[in-house]
Amino acid sequence: MQENVSFFLNNIKENSNLNAFNFVFDDCIEQTSSIEQKIKNGSAGKLAGMVIAVKDVLAINQKPLTCSSNILRDFISIYTATAIQKLIDEDAIIIGKTNCDEFAMGSSNENSAFGTVLNPVDTSRVPGGSSGGSAAAVAADLCDASIGTDTGGSIRQPAAFCGIYGLKPTYGRVSRYGLTAFASSFDTVGPFARNVDDIALVLSVISGYDENDSTSFKTDVPNFVTNLHSRKKLRIGLPKEYFAEGLNEEIRNAIFEKVEFLKEQGFEIYEIELPHTEYSIATYYILTTAEASSNLARFDGVRYGFRSKEDNNLLNMYVNSRSEGFGSEVKRRIMLGTYVLSSGYYDAYYRKAQKVRRLLKQDFDKAFEKVDLILTPTTPTTAFKIGEKTSDPLEMYLGDIYTTSANLAGIPGINIPIGKDMQGLPIGMQVMSRQFDELSLLQFSQIFDR
Ligand code: GLN
Repeated sequence: MQENVSFFLNNIKENSNLNAFNFVFDDCIEQTSSIEQKIKNGSAGKLAGMVIAVKDVLAINQKPLTCSSNILRDFISIYTATAIQKLIDEDAIIIGKTNCDEFAMGSSNENSAFGTVLNPVDTSRVPGGSSGGSAAAVAADLCDASIGTDTGGSIRQPAAFCGIYGLKPTYGRVSRYGLTAFASSFDTVGPFARNVDDIALVLSVISGYDENDSTSFKTDVPNFVTNLHSRKKLRIGLPKEYFAEGLNEEIRNAIFEKVEFLKEQGFEIYEIELPHTEYSIATYYILTTAEASSNLARFDGVRYGFRSKEDNNLLNMYVNSRSEGFGSEVKRRIMLGTYVLSSGYYDAYYRKAQKVRRLLKQDFDKAFEKVDLILTPTTPTTAFKIGEKTSDPLEMYLGDIYTTSANLAGIPGINIPIGKDMQGLPIGMQVMSRQFDELSLLQFSQIFDR
């Protein structure tokens, strides 16, 4: 176990150019002897010795919690997020906090006060975002598994760009207590790993009701691990809106190759419709910026982290602390969100977007009457070059076209790595299921994991 931890600690140092970690906990190696002792006397937890990296938006007691933002640069957490406490209670070893887009806002990990993360597959390219550090850390073998968060694709998209598995659970499956809120009605916490077994294992540990999160659900957590290998003949739906113009040809071909394989395996494949898909990006960016503008109001220079030196009066202190502390993407979203919530625009944008959210959810409800799983690309392109989209925020947002719907509907989704394009860049396939049916996603993914 000690060799395993020191292997990862060395690998992190050797790959420091990737910039995957904001903080590395070198002293975590000291935990190995007590965990080994527990293994000897039969009291070790389910994750005994598993080395896990945690996105730097989740709280760990007495450790830095920066959200990759200058406004929280020196902030130390005074409690531990429920999902992370559950890992610790099962004897996982937390090796560090991973880099991400500031407050989880982004698709490329270029919006970080700690600098860009490089994609380990091709270091001239982005790892995806916002959980770019968590994805890169797993892809580069810097840990056994990692934890990310997904508000509009931030687990599935970086998993696709880095060629690994990443699962976004149902909204409410995993407690958000101790997760710094971006958009509270969208945010989810989930695992990255190099194989489905590890995804199932970590998910089974972090799932479950938490009295500290009123939006976590009181429902049984199936045993994802022991039920993983049972094979059900699931009905698969291909939504035609997800294969329309704009999808890279190599990705399309790779997915249809898998569809042929599934047919040979006896799966029933149906073409389905999700007719409101074209509104998902607009709806997502109205509602999440609205929620973000409200959630980020707490960073005012008084209660957390950074305070501007230019504070000759109270208002200046607020204004300057926020102006100096937040990066430009975060400011853009706070302004957008404030705008869509302001009087006169609330009905035109915010309320309308809430209604469209319901329509998008109904699309899925209808589709799931006919099929058990929905299969789509995860991203319209493979990993793009660093800097390619930074000057055009709208272009960046459009890359989230296939992932935001699952968050709008609250359903789970997984990225399955299914191959590489001609440049050697990973291609991802997304599978979505009914609320709380992560088990079907895992059982299905298992078919591709060899
Ligand atoms: N890329 C999306 C955004 O920028 C998703 C972010 C996320 O899931 N945290 O908002």
